[in-house]
Amino acid sequence: MSKVRHVLGISGGKDSAALAIYMKQNYPHLDIEYYTSDTGKELDETYQLIDNLEIFLGKKILRLTGADNSPELPFDHFIKMYNGYLPSSNARWCTKKLKLDPFEKFVGNDPVISYVGIRGDEDREGYISKKSNIQSIFPFRRNIWSEDVINKFLANANITIAQNCFNTLSLNGKTERINEIVNTKISTTFNQQQKLNQLLDLGVRVFNKAVFEFIKTTKYPLSKEDSFALVDNEDVLVRDDIFRILEDSGVGVPAYYKEVEFEINGKKSTYARSRSGCFFCFYQQKIEWVWLYEQHKDLFLKAMEYERDGYTWIEDEPLSELIKPERIERIKEEYIKRSQSKKNKIQSPYLLDILSEAEEEGCASCFI
Ligand code: SF4
Repeated sequence: MSKVRHVLGISGGKDSAALAIYMKQNYPHLDIEYYTSDTGKELDETYQLIDNLEIFLGKKILRLTGADNSPELPFDHFIKMYNGYLPSSNARWCTKKLKLDPFEKFVGNDPVISYVGIRGDEDREGYISKKSNIQSIFPFRRNIWSEDVINKFLANANITIAQNCFNTLSLNGKTERINEIVNTKISTTFNQQQKLNQLLDLGVRVFNKAVFEFIKTTKYPLSKEDSFALVDNEDVLVRDDIFRILEDSGVGVPAYYKEVEFEINGKKSTYARSRSGCFFCFYQQKIEWVWLYEQHKDLFLKAMEYERDGYTWIEDEPLSELIKPERIERIKEEYIKRSQSKKNKIQSPYLLDILSEAEEEGCASCFI
């Protein structure tokens, strides 16, 4: 039987970096393999973060690339294969070729636990892989289990099995209430999320232990382990915690998050980049393109070079149009207006909250 491997992907973003630090600090006995899928097109700040992390972890972060034997950088190798067809949110060949395929090749058929840095204040699942030998765990959330595990554990058809899993544990006077919830079928008046929350409210550890018992009856990678330290994990980490972990560890917050001041028509504001990933990523907002143009002009010009034969990064707007002075002015004006109305609504001190309307978009391998 193959040994279970524990892996953690570093995207270059703040959350996966903080997770790597958190795992080393809290679960030093776990032999975690760290990897990053390098497109060759990340910002220098991202490569710097990865170097800092390697020092902190005292371990190499394996660089995976989609095109091992190519003389070209991975993205350039594939864009040639696709005849210059730029990726977009509807045709995201880049994530598949540069992130998911190399990751799946790296794990092969080994049973793998993959730790994912989705935070406790996010409401998303984060697609990593659908291969059955890869099981995702989310240490920053109250519910550390992936959706497919929960779907099975709480399925009406598995009520008796779930009940047996709880019965093996000491329930500290909560037996009756737990039994009642476990035995209540999911229906139109009692959905799975409610059932999950009610059980977690009665004790995260007990719930995790019951799920672990259940997993032993399945073919999930964790079924091959005798114990799993994270069943005792009751932490819920939100955005503030992520910044604190990065700063306290000395690894630091990726420099592209740093707010830079700008002024337009007498109005002052700040901009930054809201996420990791390729410098030309089509998920970035227009103000982030302006940031790239003004803060990393060389990279912006490189992004422009990819726009050929009618292919553009932004639908209906070539980058050459976006950098016309009157267009930059309008983008900045609109951004200031939008951030002010958003600030009034969400009262968040983070520029990230203003910028990252679409933080939940995209793929876990690029941005977490
Ligand atoms: S960062 Fe953006 S462009 Fe780069 S691989 Fe991910 S989705 Fe594609």
